[in-house]
Amino acid sequence: MKDKVLITGGLGYIGSHIYLSLIKKNYFPIIIDNLSTSNISVKDKLYKITSKEVIFHEGDIRNKDLVRNIVKNYQIDTIIHLAGKKSVKESIIYPEDYIDNNLGGTQSILNAIEGTTCKKIIFSSSALVYGNTKQVPINESHPLNFTNPYAESKILCEKLLMEKSKNQNNLIVGVLRYFNPAGADKNGLIGDNPTSIYKNLFAILDDISLGIQKEFKIFGDDYDTFDGTCVRDYLHISDLADGHVKLIETLNLTSSNQVFNLGSGRGYSVLEVLKEYERANSIKFKIKIDKKRIGDVPILKADITRANTILNWNNKFNLNDMCKSSLKFRKLHYPNYNLNVRQED
Ligand code: NAD
Repeated sequence: MKDKVLITGGLGYIGSHIYLSLIKKNYFPIIIDNLSTSNISVKDKLYKITSKEVIFHEGDIRNKDLVRNIVKNYQIDTIIHLAGKKSVKESIIYPEDYIDNNLGGTQSILNAIEGTTCKKIIFSSSALVYGNTKQVPINESHPLNFTNPYAESKILCEKLLMEKSKNQNNLIVGVLRYFNPAGADKNGLIGDNPTSIYKNLFAILDDISLGIQKEFKIFGDDYDTFDGTCVRDYLHISDLADGHVKLIETLNLTSSNQVFNLGSGRGYSVLEVLKEYERANSIKFKIKIDKKRIGDVPILKADITRANTILNWNNKFNLNDMCKSSLKFRKLHYPNYNLNVRQED
């Protein structure tokens, strides 16, 4: 029988897509979420897509007894642990929130599963744990380093999980270091929550398409890259989600902890993304070249050899898919949202 999987933060952007990947492969996902950066309507959308009842518990993962009861009641085999805060800027202003929620939440889960059926934890980490590296591409053995409290919280969680696994027999940890997930499931019903304080390049492009922002700012066009703009590694959210299912399969066959980069392994420059987005959505943007931002390195790109070979995982979607699906979701669900909360530029 396939694993019973508890997804913490399962109504969020990544969690909701992982939910679909698990259902597609006949796993039994159960969601816990405190709705701090997501919306309960996602639950109905998951039902609409899958025609299966969604098992959802509203609550905070820092409530150890709640997590423990869920793990015991459903005899959970694996936890995919996504619940956490993810804004670099917010973490600089409120670093203690990131220790409390991200590290405290992870500690609570580890306490909750002691002596239960749950023997596998998959943790959503970030490429930011590599710091401002100049190594291209970056592989998993690159030293860990942080430049902000968010990245620090991810490194601390990784270490805590690995340490716990050393001391607790049979607990296997899988760490996935995400590069930049983008886009949305093809049905257009779920996607990145634009009211969250975190905004990536695609959310900004969607904003401009919807008239919420006027022009697209490029921060520096004389970097040492093929077109002078910064290069980053974007991957489609559905590919990222499938990587989690592949990791469950791999952890079921091994007794050792595993760390993988999940990216496209292909760098896309800011200009390249912009042009593809214009082409995919038949839009023309007004562009402004602004000064470079402090700390931006020219190229950040994942080495995904380990994920390709050990997980047998490959990207199925391309940049065009990311651009189209991102705007499709935004147009259908948040055409006029207005941000009045702390946010990224
Ligand atoms: P998201 O904000 O859409 O989802 C996070 C979910 O966790 C939300 O539904 C939120 O309500 C829930 N949550 C937060 N704290 C909680 C708590 N204490 N108890 C219960 N639920 C809680 O974010 P996402 O993009 O889906 O990211 C998921 C994870 O992936 C995060 O840990 C994030 O750091 C990591 N990650 C994301 C990215 C990215 O670009 N989106 C990149 C690297 C890593």
